[in-house]
Amino acid sequence: MKAVLDSPAFFSSIGLSGELYTTPLVVAELKDLRSKVRFDLLCESGLRVQEPGRETRARVREAATRCGEGEVLSETDLEVLALSLELQAGIVTDDYALQNAAYRMGIPVIPLHQKGARRFTWRYRCTGCGRLYEAPGECPVCGAPIKRRLK
Ligand SMILES: [Zn+2]
Repeated sequence: MKAVLDSPAFFSSIGLSGELYTTPLVVAELKDLRSKVRFDLLCESGLRVQEPGRETRARVREAATRCGEGEVLSETDLEVLALSLELQAGIVTDDYALQNAAYRMGIPVIPLHQKGARRFTWRYRCTGCGRLYEAPGECPVCGAPIKRRLK
């Protein structure tokens, strides 16, 4: 499982494994000892902190604004969405606004309250950059149309 962790993933004790990433703004939100310890432990087992590109971030902001979600999403949310798109990873969160935006952008969400991660399938491919999505639409990374993937 390839996933980007939102801050709630560090406040919960859900078991996480696979190829894990998070962003600098999420790390900045970890202020209490418990989540910091969890962050350190996950880093030891391979968690990587990565920043999405400026352009992806701008496109995600555009897409969110188009869906009327620009107001409710924080800078951290936008960063998490952008990194997920770049890495073709799911998002681990329990934040409602972020889940909604991810759903609209075709990014799989791994909810925290659910036991075990749901297996997701990427059925659509961007005709421009080739990134995979769960839903058709316009690619938030490059702007090309997303179409059903031919196997
Ligand atoms: Zn694309």
